Amino acid sequence: METLYIVIPCYNEEEMLPITARALIAKLDTLIADGRVAPDSKVMFVDDGSKDKTWNLIERFHRSCDLFTGVKLSRNRGHQNALLAGLMTAKDHADIIVSMDADLQDDINAIDGFLDKRAEGCEIVYGVRSARETDTGFKRFTAEGYYKLLEAMGVEITYNHADYRLMSKRAVEALAEFDEVNLFLRGMVPMVGFKSDIVTYERAARQAGESKYPLKKMLALAVEGITSLSVKPIRLITTLGIVIFIVSVLMLIYFLVIHFAGKTVAGWTTTVVSVWALGGLQLLAIGVIGEYIGKIYLESKKRPKYIIETDLEDEQQP
Ligand code: UDP
Ligand code: MG
Repeated sequence: METLYIVIPCYNEEEMLPITARALIAKLDTLIADGRVAPDSKVMFVDDGSKDKTWNLIERFHRSCDLFTGVKLSRNRGHQNALLAGLMTAKDHADIIVSMDADLQDDINAIDGFLDKRAEGCEIVYGVRSARETDTGFKRFTAEGYYKLLEAMGVEITYNHADYRLMSKRAVEALAEFDEVNLFLRGMVPMVGFKSDIVTYERAARQAGESKYPLKKMLALAVEGITSLSVKPIRLITTLGIVIFIVSVLMLIYFLVIHFAGKTVAGWTTTVVSVWALGGLQLLAIGVIGEYIGKIYLESKKRPKYIIETDLEDEQQP
């Protein structure tokens, strides 16, 4: 039987955690009782530098029941880094790891499906949302449009899959080989390869607390997804540059022809418009290139992606 760790990044989730903990412990108890996972399976909360009582709660859960464990990051590093910290810590204790959000929007009963696929020999099982009824129209539209955009950019990604998935120890160890600092895990996991499958589930609404992903963080993650996995934007700019160059050559020929035909050129509008158009395009191009240079700069520093302050798992050892 395999040891299962359920890894949950938490940022200011004091309202949600008691509900989540109760639901997950019931689930894990059933899985253990049914002999589907080993008795030393655990729920691992990763506190992403919360400013509220999240860590106190995690410590309390851990003390009251040894099915709970926790890791505390030294400061807020964002969802993706917190999740990675959890995966990397859990892989030393677990055979299989399921990652999910703290808000129970992902149906925990899909874990049964994950385990079925695991029994069939999958190393990675992706949870895929079948419906998005509970999301607002805006979120649904932007999210689905975004998956399409990523596909167009040549990023291999599972449609409508967020970070709810099962990974085997082997898959997580392979993921650990990826040295990059700019994380977009749902785009990186498919690069790991191995036998994988999907399980669909319905996504619920957040039960308590509010989304920790305001528009700003959402946009940052969206840009991260494209720029850290695809170089197509640079190629697009290059293509655009070539097209504009050809157009300007054609225009030059046209102006020379009417010049020698003796017609005066109505200059001002054309000049101003072209100055602005080219200026704008150049700035856009520089901006996109700058984005990548920024990434090269960060990657070259090889900073640690997270620093663990306390690992409750270590404290148990004598
Ligand atoms: N989260 C985190 N660090 C952050 C922001 C969010 O660990 O800086 C966690 C959060 O606690 C939750 C998960 O990431 O478990 C997803 O966040 P949320 O449910 O608020 O996002 P949404 O579902 O609205 O996209
Ligand atoms: Mg959520």
